[in-house]
Amino acid sequence: MSRTTSQPDARTVAAEHRLAHLIGGEMVPAASGDWLETVEPATGRFLAHLPDGDTRDVDRAVAAATQAARRWARTPAAERSRVLLRLAERVEANAEALARLESIDTGKPLTLARAVDIPRAVANLRFFATAILHTRSDAHITDEAAINYTLRQPRGVAGCISPWNLPLYLFTWKIAPALATGNTVVGKPSEVTPMTAHRLGELAIEAELPPGVLNIVHGLGPKVGAALVEHPAVPAISFTGGTATGAAIAAAAGPMFKKLSLELGGKNPTIVFADADLDHAVPTAVRAAFANQGQICLCGSRVFVERSIFDSFVAAFVRRTEALTSGDPLEPETEQGALVSKSHLEKVQSYLRLAETEGGRIVTGGDRPAGLPVRCGDGYFLRPAVITGLDAACRTNREEIFGPVVSIIPFDDEAEVVAAANATEYGLAASVWTGSIDRGHRVAAELQAGTVWVNCWLLRDLRVPFGGMKSSGVGREGGDEAMHFFTEPKNVCIKRNERPGDAE
Ligand code: NDP
Repeated sequence: MSRTTSQPDARTVAAEHRLAHLIGGEMVPAASGDWLETVEPATGRFLAHLPDGDTRDVDRAVAAATQAARRWARTPAAERSRVLLRLAERVEANAEALARLESIDTGKPLTLARAVDIPRAVANLRFFATAILHTRSDAHITDEAAINYTLRQPRGVAGCISPWNLPLYLFTWKIAPALATGNTVVGKPSEVTPMTAHRLGELAIEAELPPGVLNIVHGLGPKVGAALVEHPAVPAISFTGGTATGAAIAAAAGPMFKKLSLELGGKNPTIVFADADLDHAVPTAVRAAFANQGQICLCGSRVFVERSIFDSFVAAFVRRTEALTSGDPLEPETEQGALVSKSHLEKVQSYLRLAETEGGRIVTGGDRPAGLPVRCGDGYFLRPAVITGLDAACRTNREEIFGPVVSIIPFDDEAEVVAAANATEYGLAASVWTGSIDRGHRVAAELQAGTVWVNCWLLRDLRVPFGGMKSSGVGREGGDEAMHFFTEPKNVCIKRNERPGDAE
């Protein structure tokens, strides 16, 4: 949660607690001189001031990005690659400090930030820094009359807007392909979790990114994010966040004919058939449900289990869930940290009340974990909750909760479970567990989801198309898809004057 404070007394604001925009290669405060506050979720206490950006900051950043765009677009790919690799090296060299910042800012376990968030940010930068060296271009020989080839050129200034759940991971997932393909960027991280984006800005200066190539503007979504979306000099918007925000962005950007990539919410099914290897299915389904406190768009929050194994599966699932250690995110044994904010905790709790109203039974969790250290007395903690007794059509099983809440539902046959799994507005990801590879293929083809994992979850290859169907999004990220999104394909048609044989 953030709130605006007007011009805090400089003596009361420790320098290390003041974040800054990155605009035109400099770390600068908001034009308004106002600040927002960000809070440490594990303690509920003040963490830092961040600039309360507005249209003026976005205008400045877009102007800086526009000025840098032509030169960056003409910089040879090999040089852009070197610059991005330098940034990757700076991030890697600061990995431990960045992991701590990410953990403190989001409430996620430090072990998770260390193992996943920061290494993945480095991998994102390296992946696109090297992918740009290996692009290819189509050519079409049109009978004997012409040669057509496809020229892919950067779009110009790309707007990259990212959410709070995987802050540096998802921010770099956007800016890396945008920069690699020769665009300049104005990025807007979530004001809820701005710390690592601020640090990335400093590291970009250290890595000698040319001024204006990467700009980062902090502030509220409806102010900074909306100004970026509506800016006439920003032709492409890559957004990851909630479906309602995505709809607002599409409504604003559509009439301007901007290129849009929207990665939105999910309500992902985990489907467990009776012939599955339960020694793997149970622990992976628990991880899929509760990793990052269930705050990953890919989390499996609806677990469908074939009726013949339902009771034993629920018992094993609950046992594993209860064994998860909730605690101070900075402690090495902690597996479940805090939720990102008080308002988000309250939203998740409201869904637990709804589940009970709808006839569900909270088998375990849903309360505050016992034994939290004094430091975490006011933190936003919730014990992972397992619900049974709800049908697939109820609101609890259709709406995105985005927290440590899972609902387990029995099914009798394949057709029934496919229909139930598809019965939400979302279509981001699914995980299918079966001993039959034929069934794995069959069900994967029937599910309405951008990604289907068979006998695994969150096994990622950065080359594959990533994104959602239905209300989970428009477009795909990853590999060539991202490089294509950030470039405009232009057909160049060259007429052949001389036909084969003419010279003979
Ligand atoms: P939000 O939609 O609230 O915010 C996402 C970003 O958009 C933030 O930077 C936010 O700014 C900004 N924003 C808010 N309003 C506007 C606006 N009107 N115009 C432009 N930008 C705006 O999502 P959350 O941050 O709450 O993230 C959680 C959601 O993200 C979940 O629904 C989750 O499923 C989804 N998500 C999807 C993923 C995917 O790949 N499909 C991956 C990860 C998350 P601010 O926060 O500063 O207000």
